[in-house]
Amino acid sequence: MNLPPIAWAILVMGLLWLGLRLWSRKAEQRRQEEREARMAELLAERERMLEARERDAPSSLGAVVSDSAPKAAEQPAERRCLGCRTVNPPDASVCASCGLEL
Ligand SMILES: [Zn+2]
Repeated sequence: MNLPPIAWAILVMGLLWLGLRLWSRKAEQRRQEEREARMAELLAERERMLEARERDAPSSLGAVVSDSAPKAAEQPAERRCLGCRTVNPPDASVCASCGLEL
């Protein structure tokens, strides 16, 4: 073969470009596959979480309701004395134990 150097350069560059394109396409394909795998994984995880929540929802909700409702009703009823820590009835204006104003 008797080609001028510029022809060789063009040939090499063309091959390089082809290789690069092939490589980038392969990389893109791999990225896409990874993304799809990740999406499938996330979806499966979400499905599991939803299932678990559905399974746990009635009992945990019931526990929260039965736990917090009476406490919330009781909490503001008592007035604790700052001086002696005695718990006084809600309508008291002074401490029944030490007489300090509440
Ligand atoms: Zn007191």
